[in-house]
Amino acid sequence: MLEGGCYCGKVRYAIEGDPVYVAICNCTDCRKHSGAPMVCWSAFKQDQVTITGETATFASSEHARRQFCPSCGTGFAYTNEVVLPGLIDLQTGTLDDPEALPPMIQVQTADRLNWMNGIGELPGFERYPSS
Ligand SMILES: [Zn+2]
Ligand SMILES: [Zn+2]
Repeated sequence: MLEGGCYCGKVRYAIEGDPVYVAICNCTDCRKHSGAPMVCWSAFKQDQVTITGETATFASSEHARRQFCPSCGTGFAYTNEVVLPGLIDLQTGTLDDPEALPPMIQVQTADRLNWMNGIGELPGFERYPSS
């Protein structure tokens, strides 16, 4: 059983079983709503996931619903009953163990930021570099 939740801890979720898929999404909507260049999602059947705590929902398109914590703002879930009927996507960055579900694919690469292609070549520092 995997568990996760928002930054402040008021929203928690538990997952039973394996994901249908795990995908990095590069779309513009995910980028804007998260404030991050891309978002890693894990898809489960809705009856595999139990969410506790008060959540807020934003309609990012006609059928897309993005759930977030109204207290700290962490986005954690996506549903779309037209495109992904019966499924719920959870942001793997909100898992207690964010390494637990490595991505299998990337989607919406048409929207991917060009500089993502070279990100592995950027200089890396284990912590902030001293200047
Ligand atoms: Zn929160
Ligand atoms: Zn997306």
